[in-house]
Amino acid sequence: MRRKGLASMAVQTVDTATTVDLGPASGLSCRECGEKFPLGPIFACELCFGPLEVAYDLPEGDPEALRKRIEAGPANIWRYAPLLPVPADVADKPNLNPGWTKLVQADNLARELGVEPGKLFVKDDSGNPTHSFKDRVVAQALEAARAFGFTTLSCSSTGNLAGAVGAAAARAGFRSCVFIPHDLEQGKVVMAAVYGGELVGIEGNYDDVNRFCSELIGDPLGEGWGFVNVNLRPYYGEGSKTLAYEICEQLGWQLPDQIVIPIASGSQLTKIDKGLQELIKLGLVEDKPYKIFGAQAEGCSPVSAAFKAGHDVVRPQKPNTIAKSLAIGNPADGPYVLDIARRTGGAVEDVNDEQVVDAIKLLARTEGIFAETAGGVTVGVTKKLIEDGVLDPTLTTVVLNTGDGLKTLDAVAETSQATATIRPSLDAFRDAGLAN
Ligand SMILES: *Cc1c(COP(=O)(O)O)cnc(C)c1O
Ligand SMILES: [Zn+2]
Repeated sequence: MRRKGLASMAVQTVDTATTVDLGPASGLSCRECGEKFPLGPIFACELCFGPLEVAYDLPEGDPEALRKRIEAGPANIWRYAPLLPVPADVADKPNLNPGWTKLVQADNLARELGVEPGKLFVKDDSGNPTHSFKDRVVAQALEAARAFGFTTLSCSSTGNLAGAVGAAAARAGFRSCVFIPHDLEQGKVVMAAVYGGELVGIEGNYDDVNRFCSELIGDPLGEGWGFVNVNLRPYYGEGSKTLAYEICEQLGWQLPDQIVIPIASGSQLTKIDKGLQELIKLGLVEDKPYKIFGAQAEGCSPVSAAFKAGHDVVRPQKPNTIAKSLAIGNPADGPYVLDIARRTGGAVEDVNDEQVVDAIKLLARTEGIFAETAGGVTVGVTKKLIEDGVLDPTLTTVVLNTGDGLKTLDAVAETSQATATIRPSLDAFRDAGLAN
């Protein structure tokens, strides 16, 4: 059911009739050719095979009223329900209520990186229920799965998504069966298994897992399954818009000047841009230029390589990096990331594994935030872009940390150990040379 008032504020942008209630979502549209489709568990255009995305009847009218309504909403992503493909009463349904994570003003890190005081922020998405940004996207896919009558939730995952799906399914009473590369970090494997769903390790890398899932969807074996990042991908992607909404609201309803975003498939980056564009269109923030920067690990940098070479197409790579959550060698949204980085005047850059580890420790040491390897990638790339004069240290900059360091302990375990191990005596402590 639509919340009272929203329907009358709505404008019709898509003419396909539908009985599915996903709030302001009015249909799907092809990102390539613009063809419209009714809301359903489909992800590719019948005409040109382009990716489908959600189209909306967004609320029209007084931005101040909408801003107030959002501010009065719950301290999670559902405060933005009027802008998401979810029913108006979504907050009353069993889900993990992710989002509204901290935007940390990172003055210590700013000092180290030579950024003007008060201008550098870390959006810390390790604070989500399963400790990564993936709870945002899964929460959207869950509502789509409910609307389409699926009873099993599934995904192909580089680790974090599997845990987020397992947890959301447990809470919402769905069966879950998730697929991961067999050689992931222990923290991610355990996290994916502990919620009691089925967890399947596939002998291969993420791209093999993804290919397998695409086959499963087309087979009777996968009937009735909602794959959050495959057949529910258009809905899933919309969850990343909430990062854009939160960042702007937390900055006092202002656009940042620069954002540094990690790239795996590229979905998050493209949808953050979509979210920023919506806020401008709705009059919730003042329009001004912003730059979007993409961050990859050198060992899996197909988008960065294409950006630097001036290419429009992304040539697949075989990943080899400690940043496993970003290890997608054939990123579905790669070309769109290139478009956005170029359109906004941003860039796509990469750092090597050693720089990732250094950046994890830099963020921990300066701000008390223990990031997973993906956060090491964004902080490392931020450092590099400042050193190269690409990122402007006088402008408001937001760096994303999308996951929790406890899931990727191996990255820093070797160099983060006890300073000393001593007998429990004052003499031993004195001998260790640690007193002031
Ligand atoms: C999935 C993931 C991302 C981004 O993934 P996209 O496929 O680009 O949307 C970023 N950081 C972490 C920790 C992730 O798990
Ligand atoms: Zn199309």
